[in-house]
Amino acid sequence: MSELKDVKGIGPKSELLLNKLGIYNIEDLLTYYPVRYDILKRSNLDEVTEDDRVIIDGVVDSIPLVLRFNAKLNKMNFRLSYKDGVVGISIFNRAFMKPNLKVGTRIIVIGKYEKEKNILTASDIKFGILNNETKIEPIYHLTSGLSNKNLQTYINNALMSYGKDIIDYIPNYLKEKYPKFDIKKYIALNIVHNPPNESKLSDMIKRMKYEELFCFMVKINYLKSIKKKELGIKRNIDDKDIKSFYKLLPFKLTLDQEKVINEIVTDMNSNKIMNRLLQGDVGSGKTIVSIAAMYFNKLSGYQSALMAPTEILATQHFNNISKILDGKCTVRLLIGSLTKKEKEEIYDDLINNKIDILIGTHAIIQENVKYYNLGLVVTDEQHRFGVNQRALLKNKGITPDVLYMSATPIPRTFALTIYGDMDISIIKEMPKGRIPVETIIRKEDQISEVLNLMYEELKEHHQIYVVSPLIENEGESDLTSVINLKDEFKKAFSKVNVKVDMLHGKMSNKEKDNIMDKFKNNEINILISTTVVEVGVDVSNASMMIIFDANMFGLSTLHQLRGRVGRGNIKSTCILISKSETERLKILEETNDGFKIAEEDFKLRGSGDLFGTRQSGDMYFKIANLREDFKILEYANVDAKEFLKRTEPENMIIKNKILEMVDTD
Ligand code: ADP
Ligand code: MG
Repeated sequence: MSELKDVKGIGPKSELLLNKLGIYNIEDLLTYYPVRYDILKRSNLDEVTEDDRVIIDGVVDSIPLVLRFNAKLNKMNFRLSYKDGVVGISIFNRAFMKPNLKVGTRIIVIGKYEKEKNILTASDIKFGILNNETKIEPIYHLTSGLSNKNLQTYINNALMSYGKDIIDYIPNYLKEKYPKFDIKKYIALNIVHNPPNESKLSDMIKRMKYEELFCFMVKINYLKSIKKKELGIKRNIDDKDIKSFYKLLPFKLTLDQEKVINEIVTDMNSNKIMNRLLQGDVGSGKTIVSIAAMYFNKLSGYQSALMAPTEILATQHFNNISKILDGKCTVRLLIGSLTKKEKEEIYDDLINNKIDILIGTHAIIQENVKYYNLGLVVTDEQHRFGVNQRALLKNKGITPDVLYMSATPIPRTFALTIYGDMDISIIKEMPKGRIPVETIIRKEDQISEVLNLMYEELKEHHQIYVVSPLIENEGESDLTSVINLKDEFKKAFSKVNVKVDMLHGKMSNKEKDNIMDKFKNNEINILISTTVVEVGVDVSNASMMIIFDANMFGLSTLHQLRGRVGRGNIKSTCILISKSETERLKILEETNDGFKIAEEDFKLRGSGDLFGTRQSGDMYFKIANLREDFKILEYANVDAKEFLKRTEPENMIIKNKILEMVDTD
């Protein structure tokens, strides 16, 4: 198999640059898709202004004259005759092209035009003519030291020498089913990287998306099929056990919570492995349900692990769970700030069955953490864990039951396709006595009104969260930042005794814990932070959430943030401050229903907010986009299921190649 460095033009240095972009082999390179395309229309030189990027095509009209200033700098001048006349072309550092620019050669020139001198200073020259008056230029995501042009050259060199070797995952019988996709993969890729026109490009993008989603659905369906066969722990949890749990609680569970607990108990009592996704809006009380499961697991003699996405949240869960299960279970917290000795102690106790419930971040399922008999894993905010982390669980001895909790509702049709192997439980009903959070949208210039509203809350000794997209603004954007806001709020409230502090991801865990503790103890009145407070943090005295540059966030994220307030019985407000896009934010004013918001987000932004910035390993797509391409995904799903049943040698080869990529250990 040829390697990256075999591609003409790629040396050790450029190989490293490509690695930075996640390109490690020729297939990566060929499927490194443009992030967008510039569509260049043939310019009319009479109409362009000096800053316009212009493009014209014509024939070389004079022998190019090369001026060499030094070894690194040369300039080449020649005349081009084009449809409206003749123009002088001038280009730097392309002297090497001279032999190919014979008089009469057809070329396309891109650059800037100076009308007075009638000179076009070219940034690029390509051979050929413009079809349909347009040229489509692929634009790639780059890294410093690597230009779009370099990358294009590497890709084209790789296509030329190795394109034919690239594995085509679409089986022939499916190509017959979709005649538009019946094209060799390297030809399709050539079109994607060097588009001749928009309609061919759009067809080939579709083909590559289909191929990617087809592979994805083959993998998903394969994993489903092997999971079905695995056997897990069969427990004997009865009504008495369930009642004994209810007695531990300071409140009465909602009907939905009880229903879900029953569903989980049924799973735990069956010999199939539990693989359940628990969805419920922020504040609907999912945690208590997971505590029930961990309690029953202990009654049956097994250990549980609870993974949270952040240490703040893990600590909060620990405090909460220790209280409820006090005297019933031994609960321990494993976080980075523990000393080596404390950690060793936990490891020892864990393997010796002296711990019933271990709480922490994903560190608690790493290789070096050995359990005596791990029977249940709970993950809070499920979408933050990738498939590889989930696979690690299987190395822990018995295959444990898994309960995923998520406050980011995944639209049902979508969940069924990609999570079809999971059972889904939903909590819709909110605990009694909750007053819905009121949401209002304000422009930045209405800040004095916002300050007044804040003041009213502070007078009542209520606390306030303020969220900003950036920690620090290094000056390149006009976004607010945590550090700036901290100063500004300190100033604004300097006359009254108000404590302002901040929380963000660049702080050490110790600092973060310290701040969170102070906020919980009402020693901080206004807490300014990035989205680190997004998930799960529970301070019932906080009654106001103010989000700056709200348009920078997805609706689901905003809804999550809003869920930080309104957790007690005080009336709470969420203020969204935004310079633009206030239209989109209106849905948050209108509804508190997280599922509705997720559907809306899904329509507007695709799966971005679900899997985007915090993309988990198994949800990474190079060209497909789960929302836009949902139709293709559905076709791919049907095709993949049928494909897995095929046994012809040709299909087996493709199947094995696809499944080589699946991590099933
Ligand atoms: P989430 O679903 O967002 O994880 P939590 O489990 O953190 O929600 O619950 C939010 C708050 O509501 C917690 O303080 C929890 O103790 C409380 N709570 C949960 N269930 C009930 C209930 N049935 N009645 C009253 N309060 C409840
Ligand atoms: Mg939670």
